[in-house]
Amino acid sequence: MIANLSYWEKKNFFAADIIIIGSGIVGLNAALTIKEKLPNLSVFVLERGFLPSGASTKNAGFACFGSISELIEQEKISGPAGLHQLISKRWQGLLKLRKLLGDENIDFHQHGGYELFRPNEYTLAEHCVAKLSHYNAMIEDIVHQKNVYVSADQQISSFGFNDVQYLIENKLEAQLDPGRMMKALIAKCMALGILFYTNCTVNQINHETNGLTLDTSQGFFKAKKVLVANNAFVNELLPDLAVVPGRGQVVVTKPIPRLKLKGTYHYDKGYYYFRNIDGRVLLGGGRNLDYETEATTAFGETPLVQQSLTKLLAEVILPDTSFEIEHKWSGIMAFGPQLSPIVEEAKPDVFCAVRCNGMGIAIGSHTGEAAAELLIKSL
Ligand SMILES: Cc1cc2nc3c(=O)[nH]c(=O)nc-3n(C[C@H](O)[C@H](O)[C@H](O)COP(=O)(O)OP(=O)(O)OC[C@H]3O[C@@H](n4cnc5c(N)ncnc54)[C@H](O)[C@@H]3O)c2cc1C
Repeated sequence: MIANLSYWEKKNFFAADIIIIGSGIVGLNAALTIKEKLPNLSVFVLERGFLPSGASTKNAGFACFGSISELIEQEKISGPAGLHQLISKRWQGLLKLRKLLGDENIDFHQHGGYELFRPNEYTLAEHCVAKLSHYNAMIEDIVHQKNVYVSADQQISSFGFNDVQYLIENKLEAQLDPGRMMKALIAKCMALGILFYTNCTVNQINHETNGLTLDTSQGFFKAKKVLVANNAFVNELLPDLAVVPGRGQVVVTKPIPRLKLKGTYHYDKGYYYFRNIDGRVLLGGGRNLDYETEATTAFGETPLVQQSLTKLLAEVILPDTSFEIEHKWSGIMAFGPQLSPIVEEAKPDVFCAVRCNGMGIAIGSHTGEAAAELLIKSL
């Protein structure tokens, strides 16, 4: 807790109409929506890290709405109508993000996305190919385009892959720079007068007779309403919500001369993902090798996952090219039994918007907006 606070500091910096916990894509979109609709309300965002420190600045930057094998799995959970709604939210979320921030500011490029299958996965590949027309029909009224998913086996050799036999292309998939996206979002929030506090962990939310008090690492804050947007870490504040953390480990190579990759690539039902960035390869995934260990809110790398990433690079993605890994990090996602994010009033005056199920770039702006609207309705 900070000492030596002045009268002015105590009076002006520790009480707001709305406090948002977590400065990821969801929290920032919620803050923007509230401030745009009700400019006279004071809005604070409290962030535990020096930077946003969950998933929004640590992800792979895929602007995606589902590879075929992912959609097959997701349709089993949500049914066709539920999946259609989910894809629509992802697509609308991406459009909203692009309109809000501008493609250039987020380094958005629609190079297409690809799902690859190795020879031993022919059953899965054939099942996915058989479903192309089904998912093309499902998304047509969302994206207003026909035949978005197509077989693209003829392109395999152009990417330089080894041991890949089938390829499905998603013509509308794109990539962006999540760091630039978050910088642009923060700048928008600041321009509207939203105050940011970093290195400020919220430990507890208490109900008092005259509102809510937040017990934080920097002292007590007061608010009329609170939105908890801390995603995978939500159970530290709201233990009853059905959220399971999932760590994602990511590596980036040194620049590779004449890199053949251009686009976003999914492998093994989306458990591995890779893309080009600045002449390098970014590769993440492998959580399915050890679900139990990776269901954690602790950042870090494990030899098992790191070895599997290096192996995939050497054997499949860059078979004829020597490479060195220059960057490594991890980020934490939030999963749960349903695919939709949780947007609700979890306790009186305490709202939450969490659990983007690993696709928060697509759905995060929509989720933040939906939570803000729910909170505004309660004022
Ligand atoms: C490795 C990886 C790759 C991914 N790739 C993609 C992708 O390519 N495409 C895609 O769409 N999605 C991807 N995702 C998922 C996407 O990044 C997330 O769904 C999205 O960023 C979630 O946003 P959020 O705002 O809900 O949460 P977060 O970005 O996690 O924000 C929550 C914030 O709350 C803060 N916080 C936590 N606890 C507290 C507390 N007690 N007090 C104060 N602050 C707190 C955290 O520090 C954090 O900054 C990926 C995620 C990871 C980890």
